[in-house]
Amino acid sequence: MEAQEKRLGFKENNAIIYGPVLSRRFGHSLGIDIIPFKVCPYDCVYCQLGKTTIKTLERKKYADIDFQDFKKQVKKNINSHPDIKYISFSGSGEPTLNILISRYISEIKEITDIPVLVLTGRATLSSQGVIDDICNADLIKVSLDAPSSILLKKINRPAPGVEFEKNIEGLKKLSDKFKGKIWLEVMILNKINDSAACGHMFKDIIETLEGRIEKIHLNTAVRFPAEDGLSLPDIDNIKKIKEILGEKAEIIDKASGTEYRGDIINLEKKVLQLLKRRPSTAKDIGLSLGLNINEIIKVCRWLEDKGRISSLNNKYIILRSNNL
Ligand code: SF4
Repeated sequence: MEAQEKRLGFKENNAIIYGPVLSRRFGHSLGIDIIPFKVCPYDCVYCQLGKTTIKTLERKKYADIDFQDFKKQVKKNINSHPDIKYISFSGSGEPTLNILISRYISEIKEITDIPVLVLTGRATLSSQGVIDDICNADLIKVSLDAPSSILLKKINRPAPGVEFEKNIEGLKKLSDKFKGKIWLEVMILNKINDSAACGHMFKDIIETLEGRIEKIHLNTAVRFPAEDGLSLPDIDNIKKIKEILGEKAEIIDKASGTEYRGDIINLEKKVLQLLKRRPSTAKDIGLSLGLNINEIIKVCRWLEDKGRISSLNNKYIILRSNNL
């Protein structure tokens, strides 16, 4: 594991604070990435970061951290971006795998009232201590793509030890113990979880959470990295699921690109200028621009979709048609 962490650049690049990034759901949020790229209990078929490198449920420290310096950096970012609405734990994998997450949250709470958001895939929620560790957050957004064990295996491709029933148990425990807001996000995939039957199965699960869910976001992937046979669901199917889930459900129109537009506008030119000088990996671009690798991957995928760059042997190259 140590060697992999070094190779993946987490320790060389301690820039765990990134953004602020703009999203329709959270406005401007300052990202805190406390997990090496890409460590997660899942390997979701739609993951925009690509294949999971270390699929695990193991919780640990992952990197040494100077919390005084961390607080200084967060403060500096907050002072120079007065429009930050959330400080969000997300990024290169599952943030709750970092055993120090509770300390990170407390340190942030000491210096600001900006709400803290934790994005989790829920696989860890039934693990010892996880809910206590995140109970100091203000909002927890939980991904719930699979309403059954079969679909969990098909969509999220979990690490050994992750079971559907335990996932739901963890979610129930969260809704009992956590006093802040809980939002759910469901990634809807064509012919996989987009039927009315799945809608009713989601509804049954949500009903057991006793009204603790404040919002349910029905989302679609912008693209499907390296996965054949996946495609966008029919909008009528998504609307049907929304109808089944009721007024808390909201369709997130990611396919139109509105979700990423805000942060990509400023970044795409910088990435293109860098690639004009030399083909580079996402990690190299991130190190050159001082940005988190998963933000770079999102921008590069956006540029690939627009036909402006292409990838070859893990390196991004600029296409001739670009006029910089
Ligand atoms: S939980 Fe998130 S980071 Fe992990 S594989 Fe799924 S989409 Fe990717």
